[in-house]
Amino acid sequence: MTTKIRTRIAPSPTGFLHLGTARTALYSWAYARHFGGEFVLRIEDTDVARSSQDSVDQILESMRWLGLDYDEGPIYQMQRLERYKELLDRLILAGKAYHCYSTPEELEAAREAKRAKGEKTLYDGRWRPASGKTLPAVPEGVQPVVRFCNPLDGDVTWDDLVKGPITISNREIDDLIIARTDGIPTYNFAVVVDDWDMQISHVFRGDEHINNTPWQINIFNALGAPQPLFGHCPVILGGDGQKLSKRRGAVSVTAYEEGGYLPEAMLNYLARLGWSHGDEELFSSDQLVAWFDGTHLNKSPAQWDPVKLLWVNAQYIKHADNNRLAMLVSKQLVKLGITLESSLVAGHLPQLCALIKDRCDTTIELAQWATKFYGDVTPDAAELSQHVTDAVRPAVAMLSEKLARCNWDKLTIAAAIKEVLAANGLKMPQLAMPVRVLVMGTAQTPSLDSVLEICGREKVIARLGKA
Ligand code: GLU
Repeated sequence: MTTKIRTRIAPSPTGFLHLGTARTALYSWAYARHFGGEFVLRIEDTDVARSSQDSVDQILESMRWLGLDYDEGPIYQMQRLERYKELLDRLILAGKAYHCYSTPEELEAAREAKRAKGEKTLYDGRWRPASGKTLPAVPEGVQPVVRFCNPLDGDVTWDDLVKGPITISNREIDDLIIARTDGIPTYNFAVVVDDWDMQISHVFRGDEHINNTPWQINIFNALGAPQPLFGHCPVILGGDGQKLSKRRGAVSVTAYEEGGYLPEAMLNYLARLGWSHGDEELFSSDQLVAWFDGTHLNKSPAQWDPVKLLWVNAQYIKHADNNRLAMLVSKQLVKLGITLESSLVAGHLPQLCALIKDRCDTTIELAQWATKFYGDVTPDAAELSQHVTDAVRPAVAMLSEKLARCNWDKLTIAAAIKEVLAANGLKMPQLAMPVRVLVMGTAQTPSLDSVLEICGREKVIARLGKA
């Protein structure tokens, strides 16, 4: 019997979608798509105090933005409490889990005693039932937690899809709390019940969960449930070799959406960070799906490289549809205080994007360029005095006169520039530089005739008048 490939991503809504989780989501999604399986989104919201609707919304938006469509979900764990309770009761009845009434103070004292003896500070098993053992009297008014009877001996072994075979001894781990005093299950229990009920065949997640996996495998066994295959992806490191975190720059998917990155660039970069297909650096999501079969995942941590990400983004911007760029740029422009009429966004801005996009890494940079066309420019004083000299002012004035009357298209503008050069005995840069500085505020621009055409006669004449 072949099992259907079913993967999932299970973020906790205690913040935005972290880049590491986004990458695992991407691998899980690509794996399911590659094998014609299904991909599930589960929201692990049992940490009630730290979960928020705002985080859920951000996670859903990031998934949408990245194009990671799911076949089921979002499924919320807090809507499945009945099911967890049913299985907790079943385990307790079968003697595979038990109530523990130890108070935090008692637990700490027991740990302290172990520390003093130089022993591991594992749970001392005081409430764990055993044949012939008398348990302490149940204290009044204390709500118990539920602990899992972890096997006392033996090893837990699995063949990790990313890291290869891993073995952890049961002596290293203790009787985990699987439900808190309020009855809400903890992560390690809920995750097992869900992965079982949702028939998850492959779990990809960050390697910070490796230590949880033995417990989960033991719980699968205790429930008589088949266990999925696990693949633990290494962390993403920041430039300083430390785990990527807020302090080391943007770590949320949302920040990159706002920062002017294209989702397909982000997807490409994230996929490549920790996985490879030969030397391919640029690939579409369709190619990723075609190639991603769970092999060639890196065992060692990848380093977040903002410069490479910018480069990848620039490649996608270069080839992006101009109408689409115009929509994105218009949103960035609003943030810069410029709201364009829809006719400009549909007509003029796409032409501008076509002209400028080769020299921009992000849509924010595109928008900054666009402000030169739709807003005001203040040329740099040093550039002005360098390029707009007395020697060239008559030529600038002559060009302005010609441009005031000529047809407004690139070819005619180019012809006007040539005539002025000839009449004044100037070379192209001698005229082009001052005109660029006056009109665009900078001497570095795309071809002058195109820039002038798109800037529009009125603005060009007004700006040349400041020579
Ligand atoms: N809620 C867990 C997390 O966000 C999920 C871990 C898992 O995939 O099992 O880290």
